[in-house]
Amino acid sequence: MKKVRHHRLFYSVSLSLAVLTLFLFWGNSNSGKAFTANPPPGKQLAVLSPSFSLPSMNTYWSQLTNTYSTKTNSLVTPAKKPLPTDATPTGASLEKKQLAVGTRDATDLYIIRSGKAGPVVMIVGGVHGNETAGYRAARIVRNYQISRGTLLVLPEANSRAVNQGVRYVSGQKDLNRCFPTSSSGAADTRLSREIYYTLKKYNVDWLMDMHEGYNYSRLNSSSSVGQSLIYYPSSSTREVASKIVNNMNSGISTSYRKFSLLRYPTRGSLSRAAGQYLGVKSFIFETCSRDSLSTRLNYQLRAADILLGSLGMK
Ligand SMILES: [Zn+2]
Repeated sequence: MKKVRHHRLFYSVSLSLAVLTLFLFWGNSNSGKAFTANPPPGKQLAVLSPSFSLPSMNTYWSQLTNTYSTKTNSLVTPAKKPLPTDATPTGASLEKKQLAVGTRDATDLYIIRSGKAGPVVMIVGGVHGNETAGYRAARIVRNYQISRGTLLVLPEANSRAVNQGVRYVSGQKDLNRCFPTSSSGAADTRLSREIYYTLKKYNVDWLMDMHEGYNYSRLNSSSSVGQSLIYYPSSSTREVASKIVNNMNSGISTSYRKFSLLRYPTRGSLSRAAGQYLGVKSFIFETCSRDSLSTRLNYQLRAADILLGSLGMK
């Protein structure tokens, strides 16, 4: 019995050594591939296959870890993530996504990445579809190139309302009253939920929401907030907000036409929820539809440029 055991032990050890040698040989012959064949950015999610052979384990593992780190990065620092579409040699890129995809409210979100670390700014137009200068300016901003950080642009937040030229479509709720009114609250509709989620997903630092009022806020008779900047209070937001308002007002001689600096966007608005519950430095910028469209567009774009300029992005 002892001899038989020894024989068996000898054969098992020999067999194990043979398998191990074969495995090491395969491993080495494939290791070059495994560590040099980095899949192109954006392709990492697609190359994973549930079935794999023994020699490709190294490759499989490196893809798996790459995929994991890509996923992690995309949640924490989207600005540093390698870019999947239209990548240029400098690392800058433009990506287009759709929110509320497959619904009547589907709308395009543009993600402009500089390829360099920096703040994440989101600029929104068309929350109210009859506030022309807002979505027209945002459509121009979506073509911006930036020198650092990431710029998200949602030019036509309420695309159906923009198409119809109305504040919101009949039967819809005012989009700027659909956002959470408590820290644990949810937004009311799929569209508002996805806009709100975008702020979280991309770790947005600054939000500018482009709106218009029908009258000048400085006219006592008016309840409109045209020609104003309404921010959610924080010292850095106040600093940039004051800079914008002072810049606008330096070119306006008629006192009632000057911009007002106001605080606390209304409850249920995107800007309020972003500032109060997500810590985003946020403000609404309101031009007045009594001015010409070119004047209003100029104000909106100048305000966006001052924001981006203050952050060293433009
Ligand atoms: Zn509005």
